[in-house]
Amino acid sequence: MECEFSPTIWPETKVPPEALDCQKCELYRQRSRMIWGEGNTSAPVLLILDNPGAREDKDGNAYVCGTRQTLQLAAFNAGFKAEDLYVTYVLKCQPKRQYNKEEARGTCMEHLNNQLLQQKPKLAFCLGNVAVQWFFDDMEKDVKTLRGTWHFSKGIPTAVTYHPLAVRRRPNLLPYFTNDWEMLAQRYYKEILHK
Ligand code: SF4
Repeated sequence: MECEFSPTIWPETKVPPEALDCQKCELYRQRSRMIWGEGNTSAPVLLILDNPGAREDKDGNAYVCGTRQTLQLAAFNAGFKAEDLYVTYVLKCQPKRQYNKEEARGTCMEHLNNQLLQQKPKLAFCLGNVAVQWFFDDMEKDVKTLRGTWHFSKGIPTAVTYHPLAVRRRPNLLPYFTNDWEMLAQRYYKEILHK
């Protein structure tokens, strides 16, 4: 029997004690809380997004937002299981108002760099231009020019695709998004799962 897709709430990683009260950038003043990452911390594939969306609705009930649903559906269609993946963010705090983007992102990358050292993923997958630019440390880079082929950044083979929210807003991006997930899955199956 074929398995059907159903979005799920991935387990949230506890914020490490040393970062619990992070006030390294101005976003600490506007956060309701920090989201360190979601999924399996030992997963071989690290997904990077710009910043976390809400995990709870206005009444405090847990839910899977549109971005996460689109991401999970693409992962499912490419053959990934939830435990293969871990998702984290350039910013660990969700911005609510205007802020100095460059300064906050540049500061918060220290946390992502530490996650990389600790978790040692085998493959990285950047979703959206913000993730691409900060993971490649190059503000000239973008998804459009980098997608469709493998690169190497921060010591890890890295691929890129569009942000799930962009795909929801512009369905013409869906075929590219699907292809990029398939490219990621092919390398995962060949080099990691069946090694
Ligand atoms: S966005 Fe990052 S650096 Fe800024 S306060 Fe939150 S955790 Fe700290």
